[in-house]
Amino acid sequence: MTYPNVQLLINNEWRAARGGATLPVHNPADGSTIGTVAKASIADLDDALAAAAKGFEVWKNTPAVERAKVMRAAAALLRERTDAIATVMTMEQGKPLAEAKIEIGMSCDIIEWFAEESRRVYGRIVSPRSLAQQQMVLKEPVGPVAAFTPWNFPINQVVRKLSAALATGCSMIVKAAEETPASPAELIRAFVDAGLPPGVVGLVYGDPAEISNYLIPHPVIRKITFTGSTPVGKMLASLAGKHMKRLTMELGGHAPVIVAADANIAHAVKVIAGAKFRNAGQVCISPTRFLVEEGARDEFVAGLVKYSQGLKVGSGLEAGIQMGPLANPRRVSAMQEITEDAVKRGATLATGGERIGSIGNFFKPTVLLDPPLDSSVFNNEPFGPMAAVRSVKNLDEAIAEANRLPFGLSAYAFTSSIKNAHQLSAQVQTGMLWINQQAAPWAELPFGGIKDSGYGSEGGPEALEAYLNTKTVAMTSV
Ligand code: NAD
Repeated sequence: MTYPNVQLLINNEWRAARGGATLPVHNPADGSTIGTVAKASIADLDDALAAAAKGFEVWKNTPAVERAKVMRAAAALLRERTDAIATVMTMEQGKPLAEAKIEIGMSCDIIEWFAEESRRVYGRIVSPRSLAQQQMVLKEPVGPVAAFTPWNFPINQVVRKLSAALATGCSMIVKAAEETPASPAELIRAFVDAGLPPGVVGLVYGDPAEISNYLIPHPVIRKITFTGSTPVGKMLASLAGKHMKRLTMELGGHAPVIVAADANIAHAVKVIAGAKFRNAGQVCISPTRFLVEEGARDEFVAGLVKYSQGLKVGSGLEAGIQMGPLANPRRVSAMQEITEDAVKRGATLATGGERIGSIGNFFKPTVLLDPPLDSSVFNNEPFGPMAAVRSVKNLDEAIAEANRLPFGLSAYAFTSSIKNAHQLSAQVQTGMLWINQQAAPWAELPFGGIKDSGYGSEGGPEALEAYLNTKTVAMTSV
């Protein structure tokens, strides 16, 4: 399989950037340059904006059942092309091939769910105060959307935004991550091949700051949706606020894992260790701060360390590999810095903590024990294959620690007591809480955070609401 040179999609034409600028794309497993991606200029963005404005007029006037047909056909094409697209994703992002295939499968499921849901965008009739009147609440697509997506789930992160936009009749310009450009391009190719009219979706790459600074204030764009880090999210949200644009922000987290002494520990280890090292920990809902009641600590730590040491790490293209390289060298440096900081402050390195070899961005699955609360790992999202464990005396202490940070995206808990489960669901400040199970972010469930983890939802009926305007119409017969 050869890696493609990735082009821009504007008005359903795949094309180079005007002026021909490109950026290199690297394979994180060996650092080699595997291809290029077109780097859009402002003139390309103007073309994309004009196309999105026209595409919106066509798509919003396309009946929901017809929109759903195109979406379902795109999902079918994506399923057919899974093997080839998964290979491209692993080459550019590093995750094991099996994980790439799961990501594509889940993305098809999301597209199909939103296709079904597009027929259920309802307004309402509101009882009038006079019989001569009628009052209606209409739902209308918000308009052309600018979407900014990251490199950790190159297809899934686009799908959550694009499916909701298409289901509600919006057009969208996607600015996907330059580090992983080919798999989003293949996703969007499936929609174009399935019959999406020109301009309904555009795909651009380039200088992220230049593109966001141009698209967010632009009058054609009516809504912004971003997934990425909290500092960048705050910057984009303030720019959007200045121009009064609707927003969905899916930002960083620092997920607590509360393990009560009464939990089934073998089950907890199996579930949460697998979740920890998925995508080498580069997941916004990755479990990161492990808060274990003293009675459960020894068994839990022993199980977690054993699992971490048994993981097969290597190129995601090789059979049997369970964890690939980190997606970019920045994450390797971050893992090294976070480990050094924790150890310097008194944490015990139970396993891992160092780079593997000198070729590619490989880092050992790492478990740190008892880092102090002021250590970097207990405050900044590690976004890598790193688990940090602290003992807690009781559930109250665990919940206080879970809520200490400004983040609130995902949280996990293990307990066999209904009383504990009830307390956790009432008191943990989070957008999503998973008790005795791994995260299951199905399309039908709201997906999103609170506090510094952002706002808005990318699943469930709430996800459609985010792409809709509400219009009240009242009429009186005279
Ligand atoms: P970063 O903050 O530089 O970039 C994060 C994302 O934002 C990237 O996709 C990048 O292309 C984009 N971006 C950066 N500046 C932008 C701008 N001015 N306008 C528009 N887009 C912009 O960080 P990074 O090194 O790529 O990733 C590391 C951190 O990002 C992680 O620690 C994690 O917190 C966060 N992250 C979160 C997710 C998520 O799923 N929520 C995904 C990837 C990265």
